[in-house]
Amino acid sequence: MNRHIKENYIPLKTSDLGENHKLVLVLTPEQGLIRTAVFGVKGKKGGSKRVLIQPFSLCRGDFYYDPVKKLWRLDEGECLESRDTYHQHLNRYYGALFWADLIIQSHAGGGSREFFQISADYFRALDTEESSRIPLIFLKTIWIYLGFEGIRPDLSACSRCGRKAPDTRAVCYSPEGQVICSDCRMHSLPVLSGPARDLLLDNFQKAAELSAGTAQELASYLLSILKSLFRIRMDENSLKIILKTDL
Ligand SMILES: [Zn+2]
Repeated sequence: MNRHIKENYIPLKTSDLGENHKLVLVLTPEQGLIRTAVFGVKGKKGGSKRVLIQPFSLCRGDFYYDPVKKLWRLDEGECLESRDTYHQHLNRYYGALFWADLIIQSHAGGGSREFFQISADYFRALDTEESSRIPLIFLKTIWIYLGFEGIRPDLSACSRCGRKAPDTRAVCYSPEGQVICSDCRMHSLPVLSGPARDLLLDNFQKAAELSAGTAQELASYLLSILKSLFRIRMDENSLKIILKTDL
């Protein structure tokens, strides 16, 4: 018997399937990542289906699972939110590519409604917020994600000896983002400045104080944590573009 689900989804990547069809990797709230066929989407009559596979948009569709072919197929649906500004703004587009990579590498955060919501909110904010807020949205969403996964490092004390790190002070951190005090440190480590640490400790509530330098520092810190967990691809140039505020 075929399985049928009607569900919101976010297309992430497409590849060709024969001459007229596409295989699309989509994020769903319940099933996590699904690779689904969209038949005829490249053909002459496929125009109406093209809105169903635009990367990073929010769509709703009917999925059927064919147990014989072991294949999901998406037959009908609608686009709820397109991401029109991504084409003109590299910072938004690179921010989206980064998140798609995280979704794939993290196996969709285990596949949950909350992770889907974090992702949908992020793609929407990248599309609708002012350019000057893109660095904040990028950094804050990674921090939200680490909270969702329950893997936020404790920034208040040394992870080795437990010594409290004084408020508003800079701390050194390991590649996994754990705080290491000066007594426990064996060699030089990267530093998270007091202002950067404060922003994380109060979940970016004082986000107006996000300077370019602090944004860069936070990006290094947060990406270090992600890279210790997943194979995240993020080159210096893409990061520079995401963190640019004067676009
Ligand atoms: Zn220590």
